[in-house]
Amino acid sequence: IDKIKKAEEEGRVYWSFEYFPPKTQQGVVNLYDRMERMYRYGPEFIDVTWGAGGVSADLTSEIVSTAQSVYGLETMMHLTCTNMPREQVDTALKLAKECGCQNILALRGDPPRGQDTWESCEGGFQYAEDLVKYIREQYGDYFGIAVAGHPEGHIDNPSKEDDLMHLKAKVDAGADLIVTQLFFDIEMFLDFVKRCRDIGITCPILPGILPIQNYNGLKRVISFNNNYVPQKIWDDLEAIKEDDAAVKDYGIELAVSFIKRMLEEGIKGFHIYTFNLERSTRLILEKLGYSAPKENIKPLPWNPSLHAKRT
Ligand code: FAD
Repeated sequence: IDKIKKAEEEGRVYWSFEYFPPKTQQGVVNLYDRMERMYRYGPEFIDVTWGAGGVSADLTSEIVSTAQSVYGLETMMHLTCTNMPREQVDTALKLAKECGCQNILALRGDPPRGQDTWESCEGGFQYAEDLVKYIREQYGDYFGIAVAGHPEGHIDNPSKEDDLMHLKAKVDAGADLIVTQLFFDIEMFLDFVKRCRDIGITCPILPGILPIQNYNGLKRVISFNNNYVPQKIWDDLEAIKEDDAAVKDYGIELAVSFIKRMLEEGIKGFHIYTFNLERSTRLILEKLGYSAPKENIKPLPWNPSLHAKRT
């Protein structure tokens, strides 16, 4: 949050990249290689998702530790708090602190695969707000805390206003930063920011930008949260939906247009859901004119033992 505040004070545009833990060992190796390359695009921070219910928790912790302590990337660990025991939350926070990670995205979580509803465990947490409070109680100001914002309103809450008040409660409980759910209607996102400001939310709000990668992938991803996609986008995609390369290019142009519109409104930061892919992110930054590696970026430290392990 200190880095983001500094960027905002300087009026500098900044961005961040989200990754998820791959399913295979080869996938992990590929992810590390990609992180190394994408570091040159100068993300203010990177973040690593947490499997709902703690599935793949060890891998998230391992990737966070490698990114933070081996590569020296400013890393944020996602952490959900439902469907898993409090001890698992404690372990994850302890490991994060031990490796020097200072950033947590505190989330409620969705139900694990195969389960329809989420559950709080005995002695556990019900909402992300509970987790924010707990981290502040246990760790004071050690961690910068981000929380999720839902520009369309969260799917479980029929009232957008009520959902926004819960977002404010998370910030009042100690969150420093909001990262939003993906969206495909930029004006709706801008309206969300305005509604946040109107109720006294003053922290930075980072829009979650998802470059569309393919037509069926888009359909799948919006099905989780029932995201609204404007008819114009469906119409544009209809003609190219069988051509993955054309859909990718369309996704890049769309993301660029969203970011340009945000910049016009004075929003300086954006968060890219990379899906562990590099090309779309690179081209988005290039098209915005941010392709040259930032001058102050030092090469990542070479770690022989890590490289030996990976080969
Ligand atoms: P909350 O803020 O707890 O809100 C959940 C619902 O409860 C909302 O409907 C809200 O209105 C309502 N609510 C909140 N507080 C109260 C209260 N006190 N009383 C009554 N109702 C209340 N999921 C993962 O499993 N792993 C991830 O890594 C992950 N990363 C994400 C990253 C981002 C940027 C975003 C936006 C989402 C991510 N998610 C992830 C998904 C997230 O877990 C789901 O969206 C989840 O359904 C809600 O999480 P939340 O933290 O927003 O929940």
